[in-house]
Amino acid sequence: MFAKIRNHLTMVYSAVMVCFLISFVVSSYTGLVWVLYREEQKDIEAFAKEEAREHITLLRQIQLSGNLPLGEDDEQNDGKLFHYAFDLKGQQVSSSEPAREVRALVLDNIRSWQGADGEAILTKLHLPGDRKKYFMLCSVKVYEGEKALGTVFVGKDITSYYVMLKRLLLVLSLGCLLFLVIAAFAGHLLAGRAIVPIKNSFARQREFVADASHELRTPLSVMLTSVEAIRTDDENRFSPFSVQVLDDMKGEIKRMTKIVSDLLTLARADAGATAIIKERFDINMIAEKVIRSFQPIAIEKGIKLELAGTSNLFIQADKERISQMLLILIDNALKFVQHEGEVILTVKQLAGSKGTINIIVQDNGIGILPQEQQLIFERFYRIDKVRSREAGGTGLGLSIAKWIVEAHGGTIRVESAIGVGSTFIVTLPS
Ligand code: ADP
Repeated sequence: MFAKIRNHLTMVYSAVMVCFLISFVVSSYTGLVWVLYREEQKDIEAFAKEEAREHITLLRQIQLSGNLPLGEDDEQNDGKLFHYAFDLKGQQVSSSEPAREVRALVLDNIRSWQGADGEAILTKLHLPGDRKKYFMLCSVKVYEGEKALGTVFVGKDITSYYVMLKRLLLVLSLGCLLFLVIAAFAGHLLAGRAIVPIKNSFARQREFVADASHELRTPLSVMLTSVEAIRTDDENRFSPFSVQVLDDMKGEIKRMTKIVSDLLTLARADAGATAIIKERFDINMIAEKVIRSFQPIAIEKGIKLELAGTSNLFIQADKERISQMLLILIDNALKFVQHEGEVILTVKQLAGSKGTINIIVQDNGIGILPQEQQLIFERFYRIDKVRSREAGGTGLGLSIAKWIVEAHGGTIRVESAIGVGSTFIVTLPS
């Protein structure tokens, strides 16, 4: 149970941490990308304006002479920052070109340029071999006063920034993952520390229940024998009322003894103090014995009680505990079946499974509502408290049955419908 709480706390801590880390990474990364993008955009726009100013004289000369001045059309550059200047006829009058492999693509882009004047746009170019290059491109119209002279295109290869940002994202994600693992580990440690006081007080409570139940057993059995002794003593002359009181006392003491013994079983089970001693035995033998012990009660109530299933079914389990579980399930079935009803205990090997054994207790009694089918396995949970009390129930039977089944690595569940009956299905590894 504590391991479950600890794991749950760790999951919660880690989930909160994941949310924080993801929001941190996403917001800081987007912020960074945005700032860099804006910076580059501003740079390239300023560069475009600068180039436009520098080209006024050249473009004016070309417009006046109608010829391209020799030696003016090429400038050397590093291929990252480039420009193209065009006169009004669309003739290229000057350029500092980008890297050879992207030239044609850049020119294609310039020819089909749709961007607004002076606005830098991020453009992706697809190169052969599934390679991509990222450029910031900007076009500016060149004017002298009101007179248009031509257009200048400027561009910058920002692929290295893009690659850097991608790497940064990878590093951030890996860092995030690393921190998450550390956070989960730290969360697990912290959760372990946080539940220590709860664990201690729980252990004290369990000890108290176990000690109290143990201590109560002796006085209760003394009380029971005393009441029985008084009741059977011929020398005592009791009024009918006193006899009734003594019988009621005896009933209540028996009930208390049962509660105390059930509580002790569960307290010891919780404390891990009950050893499951496994041995190989024929489960049918135990089933027959249990059926035999209940037969008088069944006959008295007019209920048909039967054993069905395969014979010679061997299982490796704790004989006493399995027998106790059968007693609980059949006792319950007999309590909640009306006169002329039937209870069938089936023990069989599960078809298709290697050695899994099914123990099924089926009755055609009052049935259980769907919303209560899980709750009945909880301690002290009784659907009809008055009826259960009258029938001698404590609300602990199914909790004990569940513990026994789980201690053997099995499962227990119920299928039931109101007015139709209930079927308790136990699955045990043999
Ligand atoms: P109890 O000692 O009261 O029988 P259990 O833990 O064995 O306690 O059962 C819990 C409750 O589940 C019972 O009080 C009863 O309401 C319900 N229950 C158990 N078995 C059956 C059954 N075969 N048919 C209908 N109700 C059942």
